[in-house]
Amino acid sequence: MKRIAIVGGGTSGLSAAITLEGARRNGAELEYAVFEAAPCLGGVLVTERVDDCLVEAGPDSFLTEKSWGLDFVRSLGLGDQLIGSNDPDRITYILVKGRLVPIPDGLMFMVPTKIAPIIASPLFSWGAKLRFAREYFQKPNSVAPPLSRPEEPIPKRSEAARQGGDIQDETVAELVERHFGPEMVERLVDPLLAGVYGGAATDLSAAAVVPRFVDMEKRYGSLSRGMLQARKQRTAAGAPSAASAPPSLFTSLKGGMQQLVDTIVPQLAEGAARTLSKVVALGRHGTGSEKWIVSPEQGSMEEFDAVILALPANQAGRLLEKISAPLAQELLQVPYSSSMVVVCGYDQRDLASAPPGFGFLVPRHEGRSILACTFVHVKFPHRAPPGRGLVRCFIGGWGNEAVLDTPDDEVFAAVARDLRDIVGITAVPRFARVYRWRGAMAQYVRGHLARVRRIEELRRGIPGLELAGNAYRGIGVPDCIASGQAAATALLANRNA
Ligand SMILES: Cc1cc2nc3c(=O)[nH]c(=O)nc-3n(C[C@H](O)[C@H](O)[C@H](O)COP(=O)(O)OP(=O)(O)OC[C@H]3O[C@@H](n4cnc5c(N)ncnc54)[C@H](O)[C@@H]3O)c2cc1C
Repeated sequence: MKRIAIVGGGTSGLSAAITLEGARRNGAELEYAVFEAAPCLGGVLVTERVDDCLVEAGPDSFLTEKSWGLDFVRSLGLGDQLIGSNDPDRITYILVKGRLVPIPDGLMFMVPTKIAPIIASPLFSWGAKLRFAREYFQKPNSVAPPLSRPEEPIPKRSEAARQGGDIQDETVAELVERHFGPEMVERLVDPLLAGVYGGAATDLSAAAVVPRFVDMEKRYGSLSRGMLQARKQRTAAGAPSAASAPPSLFTSLKGGMQQLVDTIVPQLAEGAARTLSKVVALGRHGTGSEKWIVSPEQGSMEEFDAVILALPANQAGRLLEKISAPLAQELLQVPYSSSMVVVCGYDQRDLASAPPGFGFLVPRHEGRSILACTFVHVKFPHRAPPGRGLVRCFIGGWGNEAVLDTPDDEVFAAVARDLRDIVGITAVPRFARVYRWRGAMAQYVRGHLARVRRIEELRRGIPGLELAGNAYRGIGVPDCIASGQAAATALLANRNA
């Protein structure tokens, strides 16, 4: 009987566990245990019911185009619980000099694909718009990335090592600026990345965060042309055309994201879920078929044949320090950002001054506390009862860790100030909640993919070890699901174990 320990019971650990459970039910001779430090499983997947509203403390949805996320939800028997975002009402605003300006139609993430709405939009200056038009004519290789930014010296060895050893890896800001100029970075890309990654465009690696654009540049030169070509190919291949309704951009579950957890946990083998079981040490012993020793803070140590570390990379690194110092070093260098989610419930009449749409993003230089704000009752209408509204704000992010130590009343006061100044909401909310996520979002900084390749290489040298989580090849819920499934599948195939 093979015994597998999963350390960490968030999205990644639970998807590994349910994959092992599926194999066990199909006759595989195995036992597994999920060690989770917190009192409940699920990690950042936390949904609460407050005042008849469905409040998401962590992720509120996932990208529909990551279809393996949908497949996973369906495999749990939750197909009829899937819901799409209310895209006909999707307008997102950017705060520009204190005013909300809608992101124009025809911008696909950061790439202009329609001329008229962008020309008409006050979001960008005329100089920037001219630059967007010129970009369409860029040819492959005419925009080859420089080895380093022209104004900067080539990084010294130690600096390159700190960055992951890949000095050719551009940041998202560098890639976008070469194509569309600095205004696109400041006004759109940086706020988008702050809202999604809690990160900064000037630090995040283009190859890791927007690989599609890096490939498009190689193929087409122009990202605008590349995007239009990709759309044509999708339409030719039978994907929804402009005439048929495309699927919603975001998908969630009727009962909230925690419905995933609440569905998986009862399906796990009896006794497999070990909450309040923080693993404080890992060891190995034996020759030939070596065993892993897993030591929880409370309770006795246990022996396993293999281990899946479904943890933030720095925590996995700490557990592996005595087993492989080089691997631990690499893992410890993956940086993380921290953030807070503040959710306020209102009577809808108190939100009359808010513009229509899904919410807004705030560029850092606007000097506000809020980085992003979602009008939840518009994006997913059923999450607040009729006549009520739900506003969800994202605070903190990369380089702003200290804000997590701010007392609740000061956080609420800062959010209230921003909501009053930006959208004119002056009413006291019916309720307000703050959720603090310390070190929860991995930052794929310059050199990230090179670091991940080194991590994978070092891990392969340690039989019976798999790594899963948001530190490696995707931060979103579907990517974490895939990482947990891949870790479990590798051990089931007896690779490395
Ligand atoms: C505020 C927020 C909003 C987000 N929004 C979205 C979104 O809308 N869409 C989307 O796709 N993605 C979103 N993400 C990203 C996505 O939710 C996460 O990347 C993903 O859920 C992480 O899952 P995980 O299992 O890898 O990590 P986690 O959820 O962090 O789970 C790791 C678990 O390990 C446990 N643990 C840590 N150390 C130990 C130890 N020593 N022993 C035992 N257990 C331990 C922790 O308690 C935790 O439960 C968001 C993330 C955050 C924080």
